[in-house]
Amino acid sequence: MKLSEAARLGFMLVKPVPYRQDNGHGGACGIGAALKAVSVPVSHFSVGGGFESFDAAMATWPWLAQPSYEKSICACSSSPLLCFASYLAHLFDFHVFGCGEPCLTLEDWLAYVESVEPPEAAAESNAQQSLAPESVHAA
Ligand SMILES: [Zn+2]
Repeated sequence: MKLSEAARLGFMLVKPVPYRQDNGHGGACGIGAALKAVSVPVSHFSVGGGFESFDAAMATWPWLAQPSYEKSICACSSSPLLCFASYLAHLFDFHVFGCGEPCLTLEDWLAYVESVEPPEAAAESNAQQSLAPESVHAA
């Protein structure tokens, strides 16, 4: 499932909140909501304050590890340095919830994810087809 689809689904299960992939009270950021939808537990750093790592998200959607600078839509000084996981979190935390410039809605954020994510992997759709009964008859 694509990240944007998972996030849409996830927000039917959890309330959108900034800064946390799982706040423990039914709230999650966009990436946390997407992980919830595909039943992947979020990864927490084992030491230190409440920051969460993107290991689980990157394992699920490997393109999140790619640099995002060519697709930046804000002028924040940190944005050229980020990978997509961090940048999506930044947009969610600072531009959806913090209302930084540009101020985004949750729908804007989801549309941005759709615009930058790769199409569903060909291997995955082939696997789904080979499981379909029609392809058995065709073969
Ligand atoms: Zn920004």
